[in-house]
Amino acid sequence: MRTRPVSFINGALMPADHAIRHTKIIFTLGPATESEEMLEKLIRAGADIVRLNMAHANHEWTRAVIRRIRAVSQRVGRDIAVLMDIKGPEIRTGDLSVPIELKPGEIFDFTVKPGAVRQAAEEIRSVDVNYQGLVNDIKVGDTVLVDNGLLRLEVLAKDEAHIRCRVLVPGQLSSRRHINLPGVKVSLPAFTEKDRADATVGLEEGIDFLALSFVREAADVALLRTFLEEKRSRVRIIAKIEDRSAITNLDEIVAASDGLMVARGDLGIECAFEELPVIQRRAINACLSQGRPVIVATHMLESMITQPVPTRAEITDVANAVYELADCVMLSGETTIGKYPLECVQMLDKIARRIEIEDSSGAREPAVFTDERMKVLNAAVVLANQLPRSRLVTFTRRGFMAGGLAALRPANAPILAFTPSPEVFRHLRLLRAVEPYLMPFAVSPDATIENAILLLTRAGTIAPGDKLIVASDIVSLDRLVASVQLRTVQ
Ligand code: PEP
Repeated sequence: MRTRPVSFINGALMPADHAIRHTKIIFTLGPATESEEMLEKLIRAGADIVRLNMAHANHEWTRAVIRRIRAVSQRVGRDIAVLMDIKGPEIRTGDLSVPIELKPGEIFDFTVKPGAVRQAAEEIRSVDVNYQGLVNDIKVGDTVLVDNGLLRLEVLAKDEAHIRCRVLVPGQLSSRRHINLPGVKVSLPAFTEKDRADATVGLEEGIDFLALSFVREAADVALLRTFLEEKRSRVRIIAKIEDRSAITNLDEIVAASDGLMVARGDLGIECAFEELPVIQRRAINACLSQGRPVIVATHMLESMITQPVPTRAEITDVANAVYELADCVMLSGETTIGKYPLECVQMLDKIARRIEIEDSSGAREPAVFTDERMKVLNAAVVLANQLPRSRLVTFTRRGFMAGGLAALRPANAPILAFTPSPEVFRHLRLLRAVEPYLMPFAVSPDATIENAILLLTRAGTIAPGDKLIVASDIVSLDRLVASVQLRTVQ
């Protein structure tokens, strides 16, 4: 059992390293947060990554907001990362001049070939769907869920142009609603023309992460990887798991991607509700055992869209993600259309800091890494876990050293990660416990370490008596040497 040094500050329990929050905060940009003023407040409040949801964004807006985020970050002196979320194989209903009120038991048609002749057209109402191949993928007896699962229909019959259904759960159908088909293998391409166009704009504007929606297998991630390689981009890929096929292929998806998002909004529609916590825990553990970062997303503080304080259950849900050792927690509607976006970021910050004091070492079996460099990093983390007032310090050109340390989940010590690359600096924003610093490396590794210690001392991040566990990976006499050294700050 690990012990976590704690002290009382202003009446609240604080860990020794309370200045650095380990769990990262992602917020989704929208009308409530796109102004310079609000962006500044959220960056100052400690947001680490901003997400752009391309299901609701055009290119002009996207370019403008990315430039605004960069400008505000620079002014504030805190560079945050940008994650573009592309919508993947999403099926939607078409436009309706007026919403349709679906009645229980009503027979209703989904039309995949607009204008095709329909049987009993005068009696049966219908809506268009944006995907023609749906008639081939769906079977009689399947369930169609519309608008986040609010409407439920059962397939009765189909021809090449229409899918005839019975309404099981009624409600109002308005324009361009999202369709979910639990258990149906949809043959839409994983990386669509729209995704390609959106991603191209993102790369031109210098985004840091691309989140691919509805990843069903590793091959989906490979498509995006090929696109990024063609563009010579080092943008990191986040696979969003949102349906049952993703759960079946979880390990291979984790291996193929640079990080995972547990997209609980769609998962909660595609899978039974009671499965959701089980899937979340499995997904986090799959990432921990492969050393990949993981984001827990959606409905974390949903009631704060309209209320200034969260429900007790929401507080506990956020706490649970922190206890489970997720890298990031993510806000969606709370910061796109919510009334209290700043309070939401402050709330996540507060909950995460409090829970991080607690011992989560029982949250998982320690991963066993065969790679030699990981064994050296593991030695550094073991040392950090045994020494009070310790900090891990690392030097990372491509992010591997910092990523390796983060994957080992040090109990209490933050990972102070130095990189000369602004791109890697922003990638490090995703990783649990990693506090990135941008600093050019000196020719000699020793001088680089001294410069880092000077910077940390001046910033007040370290003080005399602190233990620095320096994990570095340098080329010495033409050989790659990974080393760990212990220093006490004088
Ligand atoms: C989700 O479904 O939880 C999610 C994050 O994806 P989106 O917001 O794109 O539906």
